[in-house]
Amino acid sequence: MTVSAVKILQPGEISGMPADDTPLLVVPQNAKLLFEDRARRLEQLAPEVEMPDWLRFCAMLARAQATCVPGVEALPIDENAARESLRHGLPPLSITTWPAGAGWDAARQALIDALVGAGLQAQPGAALARWREASAESSAALARDFLAANEHAVPPEFAPFIGATLQVIWTASAVRLEPLTSVYKGENALCPICGSHPVASAVRTGNRDSHRYLVCSLCASEWYAPRARCTNCDTPKEVSLLGLTRESAVQGECCDDCHGYIKLMVQSRDPQLEVVADDLGTITLDLALAREGYQRTGRNLFFTGGNDTSGDADRDSGNAAGNNGNISSGSDSGRGSDARRNQGH
Ligand SMILES: [Zn+2]
Ligand SMILES: [Zn+2]
Repeated sequence: MTVSAVKILQPGEISGMPADDTPLLVVPQNAKLLFEDRARRLEQLAPEVEMPDWLRFCAMLARAQATCVPGVEALPIDENAARESLRHGLPPLSITTWPAGAGWDAARQALIDALVGAGLQAQPGAALARWREASAESSAALARDFLAANEHAVPPEFAPFIGATLQVIWTASAVRLEPLTSVYKGENALCPICGSHPVASAVRTGNRDSHRYLVCSLCASEWYAPRARCTNCDTPKEVSLLGLTRESAVQGECCDDCHGYIKLMVQSRDPQLEVVADDLGTITLDLALAREGYQRTGRNLFFTGGNDTSGDADRDSGNAAGNNGNISSGSDSGRGSDARRNQGH
């Protein structure tokens, strides 16, 4: 996967922002409940997809995240510094200044224990066993590479474990910034809390009715993004929506300038939608959009993406997924109906 460079919009380009008190930044309320919801949704979606075992493995990961998150140490937060950062559009829990350290390895071990407790095989030869044997230093180095989207440095078989552990640490930390979110007035392309790429975008209901938010792949925070505009480049041209059917709750918002796309999920069409889970459950759409010549710009931390240069990486079924954690949306091998070009929103 190519993770494209994205930039913060310049002054004068902020048209389309809400004039009322619609929240511009929403952090997760409860990390444990968030992971439980995600696990439930993955279990619900599994029978409907072409790779049910992969989704069941992801559900197991999310359950393990829910199990271990209450005991995981959050990142240190200086409230005044965090407020100033948010005010200036800089992420207070930035991935670029993460010290890793003891907190990382404790979280890593807690997730491994939760997975073993849930029945994931850790016998010699299994991916989980290899992950357990990795040293604190080498695993932290892989985690830093993964955060920096330097994905070719990361064995695909470890990606789900690294991504899940990092999500636990950052989600547990983002929850604590809830009292500060109202100072954020920006229009960031990357997460205002941690600086990560979005996984997808969602048009919400309730008190955020019909507003579109980008959803962080790491900390699960959501930040406002005007609709019908490419979130990857600043083209003034209109974007197209492509979906498997005209009524699909998940569509690709595709840009003919940068040829990038990000999924757009319409919650009113499926109230049970969970953005990370539904992204994993709609790989068929990724394959269809790749055939149309669009490149994925959203990032999902349960897999490494794009050009697979790790052909000798784990091809055994050592992990419960029977999947090596690498999904190439550029593959031509996918089946399913072609994406249809739909009317704008
Ligand atoms: Zn984030
Ligand atoms: Zn674009």
